[in-house]
Amino acid sequence: MDLKQVVDNNLAKTNLGKVANYIPALGKVDPKQLGIAVYDLNKDNITNAGNADVRFAIESISKVIVFLYVAKQLGLSNVTKHVGARQTGFPFNSILNMEIEKAHYPLNPFINAGAIEVTSLIQPYNGKSPFDQIIQFAREICHDPQISLNSEIFESEDRTGDTDRSLAYYLKANNMMHADVTASLTTYFKQCSMMVTAISLANLGAVLANNGIKPWDNKRLVPTEVATYTKSLMTTTGLYNESGTYSSIIGVPTKSGVGGGLMSAAPNRFGIGIFSPPLDNAGNSVAGLAALEEISNELKIDIFQY
Ligand code: GLN
Repeated sequence: MDLKQVVDNNLAKTNLGKVANYIPALGKVDPKQLGIAVYDLNKDNITNAGNADVRFAIESISKVIVFLYVAKQLGLSNVTKHVGARQTGFPFNSILNMEIEKAHYPLNPFINAGAIEVTSLIQPYNGKSPFDQIIQFAREICHDPQISLNSEIFESEDRTGDTDRSLAYYLKANNMMHADVTASLTTYFKQCSMMVTAISLANLGAVLANNGIKPWDNKRLVPTEVATYTKSLMTTTGLYNESGTYSSIIGVPTKSGVGGGLMSAAPNRFGIGIFSPPLDNAGNSVAGLAALEEISNELKIDIFQY
């Protein structure tokens, strides 16, 4: 398919959203950008168009990487004991839903509370810090050795992340959190500040679409059951409060981040990475979702339709 055409058709929609500025360093990003990369598992090739090699902050898409890493390290059942798989009906950084439900674990790993809890589960390994383990795994699963930490974004998150801090202390006060709160928050802010491209995200989506096997070298990175569970979670909770809306329109397991990234896994067919910074009210890329809808229709990858 002609990805350049998809970029041309949707670039103007960047005017319809707003770049995240609750994390000040993210507010400086040029809004008029759209990049798309598609990894085709059947042809074993990757194509891209637009701003597909521009680096941006991975933000919430890191929650997928860390969930996969911890499920690989501890076994899926040892992670799902600590975090559920339900939608919350509240924004991604809400604390209210846990209070209302009197839940003993965060409702899913893709809201901030759940992601911080999962990050706190990382075990010591080879003398490496949790963040060093995460970035090494991110480089491997995204097939992108250039992934690096953006310290300006990290510091900006750390300085302004009081809602995330309150979530973490709420978890601790209710006997959740499995490591030091401050250390886990630092790791969480750092994981969100890793710099990726649409191409790296297409590679990540391709591993998930390929049931946990890296298609570029045919080596397994995560168990099939972990890849399957993660794609289900992306379908039900990957786009926050709007997950249901977009599952019905696009029908491809997708995770978004407030840096403007979208990462999709069309089972056994494609990994897709998209970057476009302006967001809708729920925190999802506006032009990115419009482009994804067009790609889903053209490639016929809506899992509920084909
Ligand atoms: N770092 C962001 C936060 O903690 C990540 C949120 C997101 O991408 N939805 O608020």
